Order: sequence, then C-alpha cells, then structure tokens
Amino acid sequence: MQGFLMNHLFYLALVIRITYSNHLISNTFCDFQQTLNKEEKGYSLFIKLTSSIFVYFNQNNFHMEHILSIFNTLTRKKELFVPLNPPFTGLYVCGPTVYGDPHLGHARPAITFDLLFRYLKNLGYKVRYVRNITDVGHLENDADAGEDKIAKKARIEQLEPMEIVQHYTERYHKAMDKLNVLSPSIEPRASGHIIEQQQMIQQILDNGFAYEKNGSVYFDVEKYNKSYSYGKLSGRILEDLMANTRELDGQGEKRNPFDFALWKKASPEHIMRWPSKWSDGFPGWHLECSVMSTRYLGEVFDIHGGGMDLLFPHHECEIAQSVAAQGKEAVRYWMHNNMITINGQKMGKSLGNFITLDELFNGTHKLLVQAYSPMTIRFFILQAHYRSTLDFSNEALQAAEKGMQRLLNAYASLDKITAADKTTVDMAGLRQKCFDAMSDDLNTPIVIAHLFDSVKTINSVAAGSGSLSKEDIDELRNVFSLFLFDILGLQAETNSSDNSKTLEEVVNLMLNLRMEAKSRKDFETSDKIRNELTKIGFEIKDKKDGFEWTLKV
Ligand SMILES: [Zn+2]
Repeated sequence: MQGFLMNHLFYLALVIRITYSNHLISNTFCDFQQTLNKEEKGYSLFIKLTSSIFVYFNQNNFHMEHILSIFNTLTRKKELFVPLNPPFTGLYVCGPTVYGDPHLGHARPAITFDLLFRYLKNLGYKVRYVRNITDVGHLENDADAGEDKIAKKARIEQLEPMEIVQHYTERYHKAMDKLNVLSPSIEPRASGHIIEQQQMIQQILDNGFAYEKNGSVYFDVEKYNKSYSYGKLSGRILEDLMANTRELDGQGEKRNPFDFALWKKASPEHIMRWPSKWSDGFPGWHLECSVMSTRYLGEVFDIHGGGMDLLFPHHECEIAQSVAAQGKEAVRYWMHNNMITINGQKMGKSLGNFITLDELFNGTHKLLVQAYSPMTIRFFILQAHYRSTLDFSNEALQAAEKGMQRLLNAYASLDKITAADKTTVDMAGLRQKCFDAMSDDLNTPIVIAHLFDSVKTINSVAAGSGSLSKEDIDELRNVFSLFLFDILGLQAETNSSDNSKTLEEVVNLMLNLRMEAKSRKDFETSDKIRNELTKIGFEIKDKKDGFEWTLKV
C-alpha cells in the first residue's frame, strides 16, 4: 500500500511540476516552488506535499532535477519516464541467439541499452536489467520454418547443441567485456524456462487464443485481433498482412500463414526436444521473451528494448502473447535502436560485409584498412542517436578514433593546468546541458557536442589564453569523468592495450605479407611466415575473406 501511494504521489509531483513550470526540465524544484507560491497561493498544500516527496526521493539519491523522457515505440512519441514502482525499474532486452560469433549487429543494442542501464542507475533508479540468451527455438525462417539455428550449427560442427551455446555465449561475453558493456542483473536462457513456457501456452490455450494441430500449438492471430489489436506496435494492419502473405510450404498446419508457433512438435531428427502434453517438441522463439521478462520483472514492467529488426514479428508477437495469457500488456515503454549499415549497405553474410567484432578489433576483414579498438567502436556508436541509422565506414571510424582521443587528451590535460584565482573562460552550465541532453531520450550526440565545446575551452586555457579556477577545473574533471566514463561507458585505453594493439598490427602486417606472397604463388615465403608464427605460439586460420589469428599462451 505504501508503495502504491508513493508511486501515485511521485506521479502527482511530476504532473504538477510539468503543469506549472514553463522551463521545467532545466530549473530546480526550488525555483519552481517560488514561482508557484507567488502565482498560485491556493496550491500551498500541494506544494508542501510534493516538496516532501521530492525530498524523499532526493534523500534516496533520486536525482529529480533530471527527468528522463524516452521515445516509446508503442505511442510513437517521447514520454516522461515514470517507473511503476520507483525507485525500482525493470528493463528487459532481447539478447543474442548464440550460434555464431558476435558481430556489429550485436554491438549496437548492447551498447544502447548499456547506456540506458548506466543512466538510469546514475539517476538513482534501482534497475533490474534482464537480457536473455536464446539457446533454443530460433528457427532459420521467421515463419516457423527451417532448422533451429543452434541445432544446425551443432549438426555441422558435430557437437552437442549446448557446446555450441556455451562456446558462443562465452565469445559474446568476452566481446561485451571489451566494449565495456556491463553484465545484466539476470541473463536467463530459454532452455532453462521450458516449464514456464509450457504454462504460458496452456494459459493462452485456456483463454481461447491458440489451437493445437498435430502436436504443435499455434497462436490464433485472427481471433486475437477480434478482441485486441495485432500490429499496434509496428503499425501493421492485419487485413493488409493477410492480403500480402503467401502460403508457405509446410505451413499447412496453421489456420492462417501469419499465425505463429507457441510449441512445435520435433521432427525425428530434431535433437533439442522436451516432453509436453502436446508432443515432444520445443517452444516457439517469441514465447521465451514474454515468459522470462514477466518471470523476473513482474506481470507488468517498465521498459522492453531491442533492435528495430525485432519489432515485427518478434515484439508484436510478445505483446499478443502477454495480452492473450494475462489479459493485459506487460510492457509500458518499448524502445528500439536503429540498424547499422556498412558503407551504405545492409549487413548480410551473402553480401560479404558481415564483420564480426573480433575482426573489427583485429582489423582482419577485407573491408577494414586497420584495426579499431573496442572503445573506438563504442564511441562511434554513441556519436549517433540510438534511433538514427548508423553507417560504418573506415573514414567514419577513423574520425571517431580521433574524436575520442581529443576528448581523453583534454581530460588528461586538466591535470596539467595551473589553477588561477578566477575563471575567465565561458563554462556555461556544462553539467546541466549534458544532463538535459541525456534526459532527452538519451541524446548522446548532443552530450558529446557539449563535451567537445569544453575541449576547446580546456585547450585554449592549456595554451595560455584564459584561466580556470580550481573549482572550475574540478568541475570540468568531474563532469568529464561522469559523462565519458560512468554514463557513456568509455575507458581510457591503457599502455598495455597500446602494446597489444602494436602487437596486433605487427601480426596483421606479417599475415598480410603472407597473403600477398600466396597471391603471387610464392609459397615458400607464405609457408615460412606461417610456420614461424606458429612456432612462436600463434594459431592462424585461413578464412574466405582473409585470416584470423589467436595467440596461444
Ligand atoms: Zn526477444
């Protein structure tokens, strides 16, 4: 009851603040209170009440002066973020299907929602961040056809599916560590929640929104659409979908082609299978996220994130499943990051522009002219707003590398500036401006632009024109540290990583010379390079697009 009351008082405080403050986000509550007292004396009780609420949240390290607004894909507008049970906040993000090396497509959602996770925590929210691992049920084809992606890889490599899962989960974690992406609070696996998934299927069946056919269970989209709206998240209309959908081979069990599988009966050769009352089989891919999000965050929770490529059908189906099972939507704010293109093209294995994160870090893909450090990749991604498209090119990455270095150099040069009695350069509220930009739907390009403005100031003072007081030097140091390291999540790349970068460059140089030797059929030289490197402890793998190497210590 107390939580319920506090939540409503919190919301009331927000509404009052928004209604009566013209420049609401930037001014402090005290300014606002004075304005209000002058103009609206009759509301003094309200003011006392809301003030005490603000004090309560401030005492709990809740930074009320920075009210976050985020773009909700569901309503297609920016909304104030008001958690259901402040200061607790639930965040669910669709994680990887672990059947291959992490690539650029994994980096953007991971970094976008890492930024949100860091910022929410910085504002004082207590965040439970759930990011799943898909280890079963993700078929090659979105229309419930084709092989399970993990089972297929296991078959090709002659391994257990769970060996594939373990291997690529570790590879994913290592890449995320390098990108300084924080671990989520919980990282559940689909295969660990089969019973809960079966329970949700039963609820949907009991509520009449699914049907069983030959041991498989399908969601009845048409029936659901009669009571609710299928397509509300992606803006699709079922009638249009029906007109544009072709009947696919092997979809004969479905009443309609856009119905989707909740449970699939396993074919005899399918290894990943669990017993159920319907058949020995496995859950449909969309189901795991509906189940695991509500399992750990409650029937209704705050934010669900993911890449825009998941908006339809994956997230649309998640909404339908939750509503069909529990009679209400689970998610209050849907957030989607935009996609990455490579030199203006969509990324795809068949286009030869599919770049794994390791290839980026080592510079071993034919499209790359050099290696790029994980922090360069992170900074590059944050230089664009998460809802904008982002195009990878060598030029853009090199510019990001230089830009990040300028920021880090300016931060380091603060230590060398001698404090003066007073400040003669314009500091103009850098901290507040950065908070305002972050609170405006995580506008990182604007935050970075403000920091660059200060770099000019710092550099001019370092060069002898103008001066900074000790307080202002400290303030700049604190703001840079807060935004660059804590919120944007950058790390200064240390000398040891400089050394390893140099090592990488030397090995890449040798291997490029080897490729050149091979191409002119000078096998004596190419074998010599390979053998010598192998002797030192390098393992070299030839690939279609180039090479891959690791150092075995
Ligand atoms: Zn998902």
